[in-house]
Order: sequence, then structure tokens, then C-alpha cells
Amino acid sequence: MEKKDNFFDLGLSNKILEVIKQKGFEIPSPIQVLTIPILLKNEKDIIGQAQTGTGKTAAFGLPIIENTEKNGITQVLVLAPTRELAIQVAEEMISFRTNREIGILPVYGGQSIEGQLRRLKKGVEIVVGTPGRILDHLKRGTLRLGQLSYLVLDEADEMLNMGFIEDIEKILSQTNEDKRTLLFSATMPPRIVKLAQNFMNEYEQIKVPAKRLTVDLTDQIYFEVNSSDKFEALCRIIDIEKEFYALIFCRTKLKAQHLGNALSDRGYAAAALHGDISQPQRERILDQFRKKKIRILAATDVAARGIDIQELTHVLNYSIPQDPESYVHRIGRTGRAGKRGTAITFITPSEYRKLMHIQRAANAEIRKEKIPKVKQLINMKRKRIIEEISEIIEMKTFGDNLHIAYELLGNHKPDELIAALLTHAYKDDFSPEKYAKIRGVKATVENTSPDLKGTTRLFIALGNKNSITKKKLVDMIKKETLIDSRLIRDIKVYDNFSFANVPFAEAEQIIKAFRKMGGKKKPLVVKAKSEEKKRKTNFSKSRRKRRY
Ligand code: ADP
Ligand code: MG
Repeated sequence: MEKKDNFFDLGLSNKILEVIKQKGFEIPSPIQVLTIPILLKNEKDIIGQAQTGTGKTAAFGLPIIENTEKNGITQVLVLAPTRELAIQVAEEMISFRTNREIGILPVYGGQSIEGQLRRLKKGVEIVVGTPGRILDHLKRGTLRLGQLSYLVLDEADEMLNMGFIEDIEKILSQTNEDKRTLLFSATMPPRIVKLAQNFMNEYEQIKVPAKRLTVDLTDQIYFEVNSSDKFEALCRIIDIEKEFYALIFCRTKLKAQHLGNALSDRGYAAAALHGDISQPQRERILDQFRKKKIRILAATDVAARGIDIQELTHVLNYSIPQDPESYVHRIGRTGRAGKRGTAITFITPSEYRKLMHIQRAANAEIRKEKIPKVKQLINMKRKRIIEEISEIIEMKTFGDNLHIAYELLGNHKPDELIAALLTHAYKDDFSPEKYAKIRGVKATVENTSPDLKGTTRLFIALGNKNSITKKKLVDMIKKETLIDSRLIRDIKVYDNFSFANVPFAEAEQIIKAFRKMGGKKKPLVVKAKSEEKKRKTNFSKSRRKRRY
């Protein structure tokens, strides 16, 4: 087998190897190792699946730059879901150029169309754009896509999520047949596969497993906290950290907005980013976030897509991600470029199993930590202040303030003076009252904390003696009611009867369906009363008896 852990082995030209060296890339990432030789050698289309931050831009960008010449004709179109991503991809590709003459232009909505027109008229070899604006240009006849060598669909899943499918199809229908199409996506839902089947020629599929280098550099922890205490827990975590420059992921736009507001109210440099924020405002917020004027950004997944800030110290899942892929995707925002970052996940007690599932599937190691206690926080803050002041004294970085000091010292006792200065500077920072109480969560043991909210426990008058098993029970319910078997949970089969948990609505449905079967006097399925509890109590009583 060919050796391919080096850029030299991928078939790139010396010129581009020089560029790579200058960029400081030492070894190619897995998606680059797999994609670059195919792109340089054969003529097949490519579907590449790899998470954010795995170097996809260079995977397609380097070979494309190799094969693009200055001729004033648009030979490459890259479609990206958001303007940030379009700009990012364009910038990254500009940095790969060996021939400075090759024109690379990001094209996106919100930017003045005149400027774009001027550039396009001069002839741009590589256009990187969002679907909406590209379509505008096609309609105006200001962009021609009849001579493409490459068409790249970057972050295809996200483009579909954002509702760009029709725009993409329209754009694709105006391109020449004999181009190569490259599709990159973090996930491969059926819609993507369909898009590929409709619009791509014979393609090679490349998949880089979700485990990524960047995740290894991320310290992963979780906190178990009741929903109502999440905000307080978050504030404590922010306060205990020396530096907190973070993205906080929220499940909904509303949550993100609320959290952004609440953090600002509490005095943090925070803001919210979600789909209801206008484009200019989004731009402003991101700019301030990049400049660290905003240090905490509460965002939804979609809004956060494409934010690529290397120095983030933390990524925090305010609510647990929907699936392992989303987890890896989110936490990949920290620990980038070889820096260590911390990924924090909040779970409520009932989400423990979901977290364990994520941990297994993402091949991650997520350790539990306790929310800092108020006393700990205040001690930490005191220690930090003393450190900071000592540093100022050591560096003598107090400028003209020495004069005020002499004046103050002339009139006050030194100890009272310093205490007054601290109060002046830090107000109630050391006061425990600043923090609200956090309730302890009920201890959870693996596999014993299903979310019982909104479910009904059913009693089924069939058990081992009727040769019922869990599977038979589920099959039986499914046969009678067509209910999705995943909704039937926590089944317990005893000798004479069984129990199962199902959501309210399904419970009614099941009881109704089985009423016909069991007869009026003795229905087969009823809502469980306290049978199981009684059983358990008896059990523990008997144990107690035995012990004493
Ligand atoms: P993706 O598109 O997969 O999300 P990017 O192409 O945006 O990832 O790359 C993420 C970051 O990693 C960029 O800053 C890029 O310059 C850097 N990068 C890409 N390839 C390499 C490499 N082989 N070595 C080091 N850094 C790399
Ligand atoms: Mg990318």
C-alpha cells in the first residue's frame, strides 16, 4: 500500500507543497488523505462525509487550485450554506493560490451586488457563494456556469436544512454535464443521497469516522443539574473559570435569546445568535465576538454553524445535543488548532442515559463534575484578585494612580483603604448572596432513570406463566395498535403479569385495543396502580426482616 501520511505522497505539485508548508500544515487530515489523490487522478465525482473542522476545504481546495488556470472563465463553483462559510472557504482557497492571478470571489446576500457585478464582469475563475445569491446572478445573467470543471456542495446537509434544496436544484440544472461534482456533508440523511443520485455521475464515497483529532484535545465534562437551576449553575461555572470565551448551545431560538438576555443582565458580556437575528445584526454580533467584546454567545445549532473561532476556551451544551453527531459537531468548536478547550454538557437527571449513549457512540470520555459551591467560588475569586493585584504591583503598571494613593493614605488607615477600594472595584463580587441556591439532584444509577414525565405505567395481565417475554409483549402491542415499539419502555415481566411504560396518548390507545381482547370483567391491560410498588415494598421488608 502507498504511504500517505505526508502531503508529499498525495500527488500534489511542488508549488502547492510549498504553499502548504507556508500555511504550516504538517500532515494531511484523514479526509485530505482520502480525497486529494482521487481528485488528482480519476474523473469520478465524490461524496465526502466528515465532521466540521476536519480540513474539508483543503481536501477539495488544494487539487482544485492545482487544476484551475487563469482564463477569465468561471471553472469552479462552491456552494456553502451561510455567508460566513462562503467567506471562510474563499479565504482559505485564496491562501492556497500558487498563481496570484486566479480570481476567487465570495458571493453572498447582504453584500452590495454592484461590487460583485464588477468583479464577475472582469472574469472570476472560482466563485464561492450562498445558493440564493448565486441564483440571483444566474437570473440576471451575470454569472455563467456552462463551463465548470468542478462544482462543490459544501456542508450539503446544512444547505438542505436551511431549505436551499430548490435553489440548489435550479443552480445545478444550469451547469454543464461534464463537470465533476463534489459533495461534502457532516451527515448523510436520505435526502442527500437522493440529491446525489439525481445530480451526480458515478461517484466515490468517502467517509471519515466521527472521531476526530480535535476532540481528543477537548476536556469533556458534564454536570447533572435540574432544569430550573441551569442558569445559576452556568453563572457559577463562568465565575470559577479564569477565562470563559464560549459558545453556549441552546435547543431553541427562544432559549438562546432568553439566555443571552439573562447573562447580559447578570453583567456578562453576552449575546444571543439565532435564526431570528437579522443578517446585519448577526454580522455585528459575530464581529464583536471575534474581537472578544462579546465573550459568551448563546446560539442555536444552525446559527452557530460556520463560526470558526480558534481561541474559544469552552463550548457548553446548555441542553443535551440531540444525537452523538451533533455532540461531536458542537464540541469540535473548542480544542482547535492544537489548543486545549473544555466542553461542558448540562444534563437533567432523566437525561443520563442519553448522555451515556452519546458517550459510547461518539467514543468520547465525558467525566462528571460537581457544580462549584459558593464558598469555593468566593475563595477562588479572592485568590484571583490577590494574584492580579500582586502582578500589578510587581509590574508597577499603576501609572498616575500612585498620586491618588498618597492622597488617600494621608487621610485613611491602609487596611480600611484597601477594603474600600475592593468594594469600589468589585461591588458585591465576594458576597455569597449574589448566588442563588441550587437544589441537589436525585442520585441516578445507570439504566434506572427513564424520563417518567408524560408516561403511563401499564399493568398487563400476562407474565412468564403465559410464556410472555419482553419481545413478545412489544410485538403483541405493536400488532394490535401499530404503535412504534421504541415508545414502549421499561418492560418488566413477572410470573403472572408484566409492566411497561408508554406515553399518555399511546396508553389510552393500548388500553382501548386490549379491552376487546380481555373481556369486560378482566381487561388484559390497565393502568398500573401500586402493584409494583407494593411488590417492591414487600421485597424490601422481607429483606429487612432477614437482616435483623
Ligand atoms: P471543515 O471544512 O472540515 O470544517 P476547514 O477546512 O474549515 O474544516 O479546516 C479547519 C481548520 O483546520 C482551518 O483553520 C484549516 O486551515 C485547518 N487545517 C486544514 N487542514 C489542515 C492540516 N492538514 N493541518 C493543520 N491544519 C489544517
Ligand atoms: Mg468547511
